[in-house]
Amino acid sequence: MEQQVESLETYLMDELEAGEASVDLDDKEPQEVLAWAIEKFGQSMAICSSLQAESCVLIDMAWRIDPAVRVFTIDTGRQPPETNELIERVRAKYGIEIEVFRPETATVDKMVAKHGKDLFYRDVNLRLLCCQVRKVLPLRRALMNYSAWVTGLRRDQWATRSNIRKVEIDHDHGGIVKLAPLADWTEAEVWDYLRANDVPYHSLYDKGYKSIGCGPCTRAVAPGDDPRSGRWWWETGAPKECGMHCAIETGGFEHELAALLNGHGNNSHNGNGNHAPNGNGNYARG
Ligand code: SF4
Repeated sequence: MEQQVESLETYLMDELEAGEASVDLDDKEPQEVLAWAIEKFGQSMAICSSLQAESCVLIDMAWRIDPAVRVFTIDTGRQPPETNELIERVRAKYGIEIEVFRPETATVDKMVAKHGKDLFYRDVNLRLLCCQVRKVLPLRRALMNYSAWVTGLRRDQWATRSNIRKVEIDHDHGGIVKLAPLADWTEAEVWDYLRANDVPYHSLYDKGYKSIGCGPCTRAVAPGDDPRSGRWWWETGAPKECGMHCAIETGGFEHELAALLNGHGNNSHNGNGNHAPNGNGNYARG
């Protein structure tokens, strides 16, 4: 189900307004941030759920404020079966709809035909290409339906997230509002809330996983290891990001993505046939 919200202009905030809101709400509890956002954006806002622990906390909190809160997820086609099982448990507990957005079949088929199903293990740019096709583009399509989205980002998850604000304008997605009510929460606070409120959570956490994405790109980590070290664990020097929350520009995968989307192939990933990021190894945050 993809509902188009009418008159999105009505709900858009400008930088000044978002900046003031982020200051006002920075020391507020997540429930207060959610209540403010639900009041302001109503049905033109949705929680983007990865089905990780943070998403489950946010769904529970928002549902207690407004049982009609909208939730969507991106089904990449490579998720572990436990993720789909959790979606059903969440639907059953809260009686909510979870809108599912998927990658374009034709683009996935072209990518797989050219590079293979497990292309991500071979090269960072091919991994980023896969994330663009399976995650970033469907997210972009999903967010055309909303004027605000809620994420489970926390500042202590990774260096690229250390400066996130609870309310900000999302310039990567048409200037809609992006909310991070859990920005200042710790992992321990997330789990305290889950347990105290009997919130359904992903069963892979009980098998040593700390951060959960697609099946082939996620593994359990040892106690004490960085929680995101189980994501794309074979890569060195690349960001533990897929591009959904910060634009990643390498000068590599973008050419290949354009070729896929334009319907013609190009075997080069960076214009010179190499797979190196961009000649200087940079991955830029947008
Ligand atoms: Fe592809 Fe892995 Fe990214 Fe999922 S996490 S979209 S399988 S590269």
